[in-house]
Amino acid sequence: MTRDDALALDAGDPLAPLRAQFVLPEGLIYLDGNSLGVLPRATAARVQQVVTQEWGDGLIRSWNSAGWIDQPRRLGDKIARLVGAAPGEVVVADSTSINLFKVLSAALGIVQADTPQRRVILSERSNFPTDLYIAQSLATSLGFELQLAESHQLPGLLNEHTAVLMLTHVNYRSGRMHDMAALSRAAHDAGALALWDLAHSAGAVPVDLARDGADFAIGCGYKYLNGGPGAPAFVWAHPRHATRARQPLVGWMGHAAPFEFSPEYQPAAGMARFLCGTPPVLSMAALECGVDSVLAAEAHGGMAALRAKSLALTRLFAERVVATCPQLRLVSPQQDAQRGSQVCFTHREIGYPVMQALIARGVIGDFRVGDRPGAVESGDAGEAGDILRFGFTPLYLRFVDAWDAAEHLQAVLTSGEWQRPEFNRRQAVT
Ligand SMILES: *Cc1c(COP(=O)(O)O)cnc(C)c1O
Repeated sequence: MTRDDALALDAGDPLAPLRAQFVLPEGLIYLDGNSLGVLPRATAARVQQVVTQEWGDGLIRSWNSAGWIDQPRRLGDKIARLVGAAPGEVVVADSTSINLFKVLSAALGIVQADTPQRRVILSERSNFPTDLYIAQSLATSLGFELQLAESHQLPGLLNEHTAVLMLTHVNYRSGRMHDMAALSRAAHDAGALALWDLAHSAGAVPVDLARDGADFAIGCGYKYLNGGPGAPAFVWAHPRHATRARQPLVGWMGHAAPFEFSPEYQPAAGMARFLCGTPPVLSMAALECGVDSVLAAEAHGGMAALRAKSLALTRLFAERVVATCPQLRLVSPQQDAQRGSQVCFTHREIGYPVMQALIARGVIGDFRVGDRPGAVESGDAGEAGDILRFGFTPLYLRFVDAWDAAEHLQAVLTSGEWQRPEFNRRQAVT
């Protein structure tokens, strides 16, 4: 394959028109949409309109006239289309961490009522830390135990003590994707509930929560949904749980009739009970533009087309880097079915300065520390070294971007430019 072949793939790409939806700084190759999605062109004008017209002129009337009060449900219905959920099954609120607190509490409450002998929350050691912290805190306060294991051990650890299997669908460091259907089924066969974090899945890989047997799910608004920094997150519960689930952050927006101002809490009939306080209207407006930018793919083959392009992009990049950068070891799975929309490599020592040097060349990925020496080598995520992480968003990336990014990475390694002192000073956000 040559660079011209990559250009030819772009010329024949049915998703290519979607790139025009975004503000993409000239000369930049952005491989970090898995951490912070890019800015849709529509967002600035929409937020401006919400500020000047809906807030400035409409003032309090806009809760009704501009539909502010319906934002959590309206956006939820749009996100539902991306994750295999029906209208009314998803609401947008709070952050991923807070939504995890709510759904994990709800799941544990259901288990406690039905099968009180089940006391274990099972998760993966390499899960995103906030998920583990929230689970640990809830386990401590509710009298459960958090059990952490390597990915391949999970099915064997599900048993009559397991209350909830809590997993992130696509691992944030390795890019490895779990088989949601198989693991949810295994959890159910053992009598446990299955809770999925879709932070690196929604808008990136096909998700079918209902078909694949999930009980609860949460996801992030600012990654592949392009909702902007700190965008609100979303939450889903299977309809059989939504009407019975209790979550502890009961606020007036989750009340059956918030404007009755009753002193007694009465949960809303369905998913609205997962709302707590007043929605962040400006952030919601930006998130809606981001979600719309992903839904625009529906006219070009939808999630299936996005997935096909994502796999082709990650395959091309991984193959080029493996061929040209022998210093790096591929961490992400080579099999398409096991790979999310990112590619990661490890280098034992120089991961951080290599990424800094690459960013200085206009190729933006990011860096995640690996497990420290002495930690168990998992075999799952290649956790021995530090991780160079490259997210591929098929909505706006081109094949030639994947090609050029690999060329830059090779140049950084062979030139030794990563040795410059400014690339070796660690910043607060990596
Ligand atoms: C990004 C991410 C989060 C982020 O949580 P916030 O509450 O938005 O900070 C949580 N969990 C996973 C798995 C993530 O990848």
